[in-house]
Amino acid sequence: NRASDEQIEALVEDSIRYVWRHGVSAAATRTGRGPLAVSASGVYVTDMDGNEYLDGLSGGSAAATLGHGRVDVADAVHAQMTTLHWVSLRTFINEPSIELGRRLAGLTDADLQTSFFVSSGSEAVESATQLAKSFHRARGNPGKNMFLYRKTGYHGTTLVGASASDNAEFRTWFAPLAPGFAEVDACYPYRRPDHMTEEEYGDACADALEATILDIGPERIAGILAEAIPAALVLVPPANYLRRLREICDRHDILWIDDEVFIGIGRTGRWFGFEHFGVTPDIVTSSKGITGGYVPLGAALATSRVMETIYGDQASGQAKVSGHTYAAHPTACAAGIAVLDAIEKEDLVGNAERVGEWMIAEFARIYADHPRVGDVRGKGLLIGIELVQDAATRTPFPRESGVGRRVMDRAMENLFMLRATGDVITLFPALVTTMPDARAMVSATCRAIDEVL
Ligand code: PLP
Repeated sequence: NRASDEQIEALVEDSIRYVWRHGVSAAATRTGRGPLAVSASGVYVTDMDGNEYLDGLSGGSAAATLGHGRVDVADAVHAQMTTLHWVSLRTFINEPSIELGRRLAGLTDADLQTSFFVSSGSEAVESATQLAKSFHRARGNPGKNMFLYRKTGYHGTTLVGASASDNAEFRTWFAPLAPGFAEVDACYPYRRPDHMTEEEYGDACADALEATILDIGPERIAGILAEAIPAALVLVPPANYLRRLREICDRHDILWIDDEVFIGIGRTGRWFGFEHFGVTPDIVTSSKGITGGYVPLGAALATSRVMETIYGDQASGQAKVSGHTYAAHPTACAAGIAVLDAIEKEDLVGNAERVGEWMIAEFARIYADHPRVGDVRGKGLLIGIELVQDAATRTPFPRESGVGRRVMDRAMENLFMLRATGDVITLFPALVTTMPDARAMVSATCRAIDEVL
């Protein structure tokens, strides 16, 4: 049932006219002829030409953690939609949101008790900053209203998300961005000074963070937005770094907002990334994997300490945190429950840990002596391969060489979906990835890299 070339051309032209595609130019849509996805199942996506793409990216942006075409999630969504599809949280509380909130609170030992449900990652980040401001206001510190974010960080595209993201294009095009956001250095172990161990580097990053806080004035800072493991470049921090970050936040009464929109709900082989480091954030954001991408949903999860402070403030309290029409959407929450059921029943967090560990070890083995592969790193099914001009000296490729981009394009031509952020090749496959899928992904990745390098 394949489309003719003329049909595809017509759809591509209509797509350019009627649907604005972010991050991709009209010219690229034309030359790539879409590609136009028509169906997907498991870890494969099929386009209109009948090509089947092996999906190393959980749908492209890390959301499809259960893979594609899950009937159990679709059934749960159908049942909820035909029972109570949506009513406003302003008027009614609803069972699916209570059940999902209870389940999320119970995923870890951390006291992340209360979920503020929204519809996307950017909204979760924005809500998290509002919760943090409300917390400090409730404690009589309304002047604590600034946020720190880290270099190379990405936290979304709304005004707050963009203001907390190190994205030069956003920062120029959408200027002026929101006031009250300041950048601090990333913790990027591969790029640490030669003379430092990872642990010394973790300490140095933490010291630099504290110096910036003291410079700005802790009395002005509400929180720091920091992913436990920054996903874009797969920056797994040294073990001591987040412990130090936690101590520094406590010392200066600053809330740590751990943005787990990308890595949360099983991807790293734990429910949440922070669990790898024995530390607990004050607020955690989640989206993507929370519903496996079946229905849009996001959440900001706050500790009972944060919530009791906000609830306890009768003068401003919870009413000052924005509430969206789709807050705690019953159908989205029903999808979330079905996804958690599946992850638990099929031990997909354990699968992510096991399969991911194998993939990382396999890449490390294959590229151990490669002159242009500087680093292989990751946690669970979040994997990064940093390509460099000279691995011995860690010299990057010149910016204009576009090596990462070329690997990504080549993989797509080879019907494999991987991502490049600069020259860091990243994979974030679905949690349902099997060992045969993983072997196919490793060889497709190596093929694309070898064809370009
Ligand atoms: N935060 C992180 C860490 C992300 O990776 C993303 C999206 O990729 C966002 C926030 C924004 O989420 P959304 O695209 O759903 O608004």
